[in-house]
Amino acid sequence: MDQRETSPAQWPAREHVLGGIRIGRLLPRRELRTIGPWCFLDHMGPTVLGPGDRFDVPPHPHIGLQTVTWLLSGGLLHRDSLGFEQVIEPGQLNLMTAGSGISHSEESLEDAPGEVHGVQFWVALPESAQSVQPDFEHHGALPVITENRIETTLIMGEMAGKASPATTYSPLVAVQIRSRRSGEVTLPLKHGFQYGLVLLEGEASLQGGSLEKGALCDLGSGREAITLVLAANSTLILIGGKPLEQNPLLWWNFVAWERETIEQARADWQAGHPRFGSVEGYAGAAMDAPELSGRLVGE
Ligand code: MN
Repeated sequence: MDQRETSPAQWPAREHVLGGIRIGRLLPRRELRTIGPWCFLDHMGPTVLGPGDRFDVPPHPHIGLQTVTWLLSGGLLHRDSLGFEQVIEPGQLNLMTAGSGISHSEESLEDAPGEVHGVQFWVALPESAQSVQPDFEHHGALPVITENRIETTLIMGEMAGKASPATTYSPLVAVQIRSRRSGEVTLPLKHGFQYGLVLLEGEASLQGGSLEKGALCDLGSGREAITLVLAANSTLILIGGKPLEQNPLLWWNFVAWERETIEQARADWQAGHPRFGSVEGYAGAAMDAPELSGRLVGE
């Protein structure tokens, strides 16, 4: 459907607390399960962690997805069952490909780390790649497009002739748009992609309408470009991709295309199956999977 003429829907986040910080969950939601292959969007913070406060998510498993972690402030330490131990800071990408199975922990670097603000988004791996070997990539610097002093950073995929080095398994894009001073920027969009936009800080408008901070603006498909007007010191993330042919199934930390795949992954995690390995160096116990009953998201 051509959605250029209609003003885009803006879905407010659902509030959660995870590992000690405020989470605004933007996807999935009943009205909108996915945007391209993006199936789960968490906006983390901004939360100020003072003395005695830590962000701490104990070891837990994933299958069938990639986690895309991107910070605006603060720092986090990632450890996984492949032996990667990686600090992430603002402007850097941590990309974890779960594939057939991985486990990881995420925590603050120190006590009283100050403000933590960022996103963690999940990409559903296509059915043909759902069991790829797990992997982890850290990209400390990414390509940037600059227009009117507004910087558009290629987190995943490509735009305007620049491409992120991050590994992808289906056509998709994620960019950060950041202004130091107020200004306008036009970004080209791809035919056949669906897009969504989140204002993370500052103020911005699209087609003369203000974007709500922390909401998911559903851009749909059919636009050739978007023009954004940004106030100084504003940050947005734009995601997009080729629509999936069917909804993936989501349950806990798993993404799959068959219920049996999720049931098996849960049983394997609870039994300590080697497919999920173990996270060395984390001081504490791994997470227990919840009971699996009822319908999965996507069923
Ligand atoms: Mn995780």
